[in-house]
Amino acid sequence: MVPAHARSSRLLTAAVAVAGVVFAVFMVMSVTAGEGGTRAEVFNELARLPSIALTAGLGLRLVLGDGLDRRERRSWIWLNAAFVMNVTAQITLLVQLLASGQPSFPGLTDYLFAASIPPMVVGVMLVPAAPRSRAERLKLLVDALIVVAGACMALWYLEIAPLLQMPGVDPQVIVFSAAVPVTDLLLLFALVTLLLRRPGRIAVWGFLGGGILIKVVADTTYIIALVQFTVVFAPNSWLYLVWATADFLTLLAVYHRLHREVRPRAERPLPQRFTWLPYGAIVASYAMLVFVGRNESLYSLGGMIIGAIVLTGLVIVRQVMAQRESHELAVTDPLTGLANRARVVERVAEMARQAPRGDRCKAVFLIDLDHFKPINDVHGHEAGDAVLKAVASAMRAVIRSGDTAGRLGGDEFAVVLPSLPSREAAEGIAQRLVEALRTPVIFGDLLLSVGVSIGVAFQDESTTNDPELFLAHADVAMYSVKRSGRGTFCVYRPELDSRARDAELREAVANDELVVHFQPVVRLPEGDQVGVEALVRWNHPTRGLLMPGAFIELAEETGAVIPIGEWVLREACRQAAGWRQEYPQAQSLKLTVNLSARQVAQAGLEKTIAAILDETGFPADRLVLELTESVLLDPDEATMARVDALRDLGIGLAVDDFGTGYAALSYLRILPFTALKIDRSFVTDIATDADAFAVTDALVRLAKAYKLSVVAEGIENAEQAQCLTNMGCGFGQGYYFARPMAGPAFAERLEGIPETSAQSDAESIT
Ligand code: C2E
Ligand code: MG
Ligand code: MG
Repeated sequence: MVPAHARSSRLLTAAVAVAGVVFAVFMVMSVTAGEGGTRAEVFNELARLPSIALTAGLGLRLVLGDGLDRRERRSWIWLNAAFVMNVTAQITLLVQLLASGQPSFPGLTDYLFAASIPPMVVGVMLVPAAPRSRAERLKLLVDALIVVAGACMALWYLEIAPLLQMPGVDPQVIVFSAAVPVTDLLLLFALVTLLLRRPGRIAVWGFLGGGILIKVVADTTYIIALVQFTVVFAPNSWLYLVWATADFLTLLAVYHRLHREVRPRAERPLPQRFTWLPYGAIVASYAMLVFVGRNESLYSLGGMIIGAIVLTGLVIVRQVMAQRESHELAVTDPLTGLANRARVVERVAEMARQAPRGDRCKAVFLIDLDHFKPINDVHGHEAGDAVLKAVASAMRAVIRSGDTAGRLGGDEFAVVLPSLPSREAAEGIAQRLVEALRTPVIFGDLLLSVGVSIGVAFQDESTTNDPELFLAHADVAMYSVKRSGRGTFCVYRPELDSRARDAELREAVANDELVVHFQPVVRLPEGDQVGVEALVRWNHPTRGLLMPGAFIELAEETGAVIPIGEWVLREACRQAAGWRQEYPQAQSLKLTVNLSARQVAQAGLEKTIAAILDETGFPADRLVLELTESVLLDPDEATMARVDALRDLGIGLAVDDFGTGYAALSYLRILPFTALKIDRSFVTDIATDADAFAVTDALVRLAKAYKLSVVAEGIENAEQAQCLTNMGCGFGQGYYFARPMAGPAFAERLEGIPETSAQSDAESIT
């Protein structure tokens, strides 16, 4: 059994084949037949009927079937309205021809034929193509208008002007005859827009477009022959064959859509080969103007001159649009459609140049996505692109017109806000962006979450006329967010600027703005002073006395910690050597100085330290250097050699903040440490929390197992001191005993300590 749908599709092919045969027979006969008259005309119109009728029938089937999507169905409904109107007109014409011979012109059938053109125009205009932006649609319109304006000129010269000038013709005839080329012009306009829109389904729209084009050419030829040469094409002439060809091509279009392309397949857009059309039209129109202008009267030239003016205007508009488009392309990020880096820099420069208006302020945001790289790496670039696009649309939703949102590259974005009522308004926008960009992006069955770090910079005197600095400020603020935990925004302050701050820090060393404070280290439980830790402070000219927490990390990052560390060591040794000379009880005191990871990594460190000891006269065996655990994380050969060399000098080595880093315990054995400092975080809860107690207890045991002295940091009360004593921790340091103090204050304190006690116990630390 043949399935029903296969049977019906065979029937369909057969019907089209019959129409094709009729068309072919008609073609042969019309070329070979000699006579004209009503009989020939009846034969002509009858021969065209199968194609026209079948087109309408298949069109109906197409529209009523379920192979079309909403947009394409809309287009085919209009097209089919035109087909149905055509078939009605054709049948009416045949009836009239058979009943009363030649019908009058323009008669009912002519009006029916003419009425089929507007729905055809609408149908062609509605043919779906790839979605376009407003600018693209506008460009398309101008392109189509240029082609039509060119055709208008030709029409005016060849058809309409001579028609209007024909003597003794019924005005109704003139109007209707002029209407045919005008409606054809509309069809031409629709066709050009179709070609320029490059829709998919090349065969279907190719046949339909071909049919329309051939019909327009045939209509035009008929009227030109009539008005220019008073030649009337007889019903059996070749021109009727051309019309019939147009009918058959239209049938093929519908058949193709219905039969051949029922199964959807990847649509290939029409290649970009029709973009020359507007320019072709311009060249042809001007050529015609020159040709005609040689020997014509001004009357028939009138329409063409107007046409030329319109055309020139359109070309200018088109060029301006093209220019704008290419500029727009050059400054647009292709993935997100936001401004690109060049455009953002341009906007910031514009903004930086303008003098501030009243109390309005200007701001730049630099936005960096948090955790974007893993999305790209794990889920692929398509997922990454989806996130970037979602971020772009969230940004568009938050900013207002006049502001510019841009993508600088990778996962870095920017917003330029040239006119804000207040700084608070900018902060509100930054907050909204942070919240909007926190919403996860749906990609397939994945939920992709990113966050953002936003750096906000406001224009000030330093950035007026300096767009690069303006952006650099936003960058500094953004990095500060990245450093301090991400997922929020931060407004630029000069203190955040590491470059500026690095320079400032280095100057601080040169300007003697640094000071060393000293905190006693005591023996537990007695509290006798056995050592002292040197801690740096910065006596900032405007911000007051700064603790190391405010600048050491940055100094570590930029490398300024090397000169700072050297300075601290020299200064501490110098002062301590002075105490040794002045107070006998200071002889046995150990001086501990912090050494940063950068310093430990520095070649020649041992020589620098030996030189400082030499210079200040402080004995090496009284010095203890504190290294943080990070130094021990993965020490290379050179570092190990350097640490060994320091130990060889007789210098003691302590692990600072023990228990907070990730150092492998094995290094405690490999490296020549002498002491271990238990971090304050363990000590804080020791008296109240059993777990903290147990861990600290274990640390003390561990240190003892490695034969290291143990110093507990941050002891703030008697209970903590008691607990540590019970565990067997030998030494302590903390506010409970003494806060860090300036050198002279420490000297004064030394004065109060009995000579004997300090000396007798001092040997036991490290
Ligand atoms: P650190 O070496 O662990 O120094 C101990 C810190 O704990 C000091 O903070 C000290 O003032 C504080 N401290 C001592 N007892 C108590 C207490 O009972 N309660 C509390 N809450 N805090 C206590 P400071 O002076 O702010 O130094 C912080 C860190 O900066 C130091 O930690 C050290 O890592 C670093 N640092 C200080 N001076 C230098 C230096 O000259 N060079 C290097 N590279 N780093 C330094
Ligand atoms: Mg320390
Ligand atoms: Mg510490």
